[in-house]
Amino acid sequence: MTDRPDDTGHVDLRVDVPHSARVYDYLLGGKDNYAADRAAGDASAAAWPSLPTSMKQTRIFMHRVTRTLAAQYGMRQFLDIGTGIPTPPNLHEVAQEVAPESRVVYVDNDPIVLAHARALLQSSPEGRTGYIQADMRDPEAILNDPKLHKVLDLKQPVVLSVIAVVHFILDKDDPQGLVARLLRELAPGSFLALTVFTGDTDPERVAGVGREYNERGIPLQIRDRAEAERFFAGLELIEPGVSLVHHWRPDGMSEQVPDSHIAMYGGVARKN
Ligand code: SAH
Repeated sequence: MTDRPDDTGHVDLRVDVPHSARVYDYLLGGKDNYAADRAAGDASAAAWPSLPTSMKQTRIFMHRVTRTLAAQYGMRQFLDIGTGIPTPPNLHEVAQEVAPESRVVYVDNDPIVLAHARALLQSSPEGRTGYIQADMRDPEAILNDPKLHKVLDLKQPVVLSVIAVVHFILDKDDPQGLVARLLRELAPGSFLALTVFTGDTDPERVAGVGREYNERGIPLQIRDRAEAERFFAGLELIEPGVSLVHHWRPDGMSEQVPDSHIAMYGGVARKN
């Protein structure tokens, strides 16, 4: 089995086993998923009925963060790791709505995201987007990919966006170290925007979600607040610091969701 296109351009999507990108798509209400993904999504939502709400609020957090960094902090370059199956609006659409010249490089290791990459490459004429199929656990592959440097100028600040991804990176793979490695190549004035899956708000039932994913072959790690904050060590968090995603600069709707329905911390911090 391979996740790379063969000579005929064929990609084996392994529809017999659930993939995190497709489970996420299913729970967000998308159509790019298969029976195994829907079974995993249903079992996880049975373990914790708030899971779809938490995921939607995380997606909306990504929109608010992107809009805020583009509109209020003048950011025009974005490196998005763990992009997922395109669900409009995607990051570049949010950024280019504020500033059409914005440039975005997307990275994901799932071949189904590659199969949908065309939707990610519909840039505004003034801006530019790129797609790299790579694993976050191999940061050198991302940093050495010519497509990264074709789209982004690493001498200028970049937003490193890692939303709803690091729970798929186990501690043995040192997720904080991987994020720090990527940030090291980014110019001062760059930002890290990152979320961390947590059981702090509803420990037992969120643990049930973890079990459902793990049992279906998608290793998943749940972290507490202190572990979430470690991702931002050495950076300057902007207001309101690390918070549940729906409390990060809410725009009038999100804050009505009870905390116990959210299993994701989010934060945005500047590299000085
Ligand atoms: N960031 C998007 C999608 C999150 S779903 C959003 O916030 O809406 C998580 C995505 O991370 C999936 O598409 C999955 O394929 C990807 N992913 C998981 N582990 C990864 C890894 N090690 N390297 C790159 N991408 C990964």
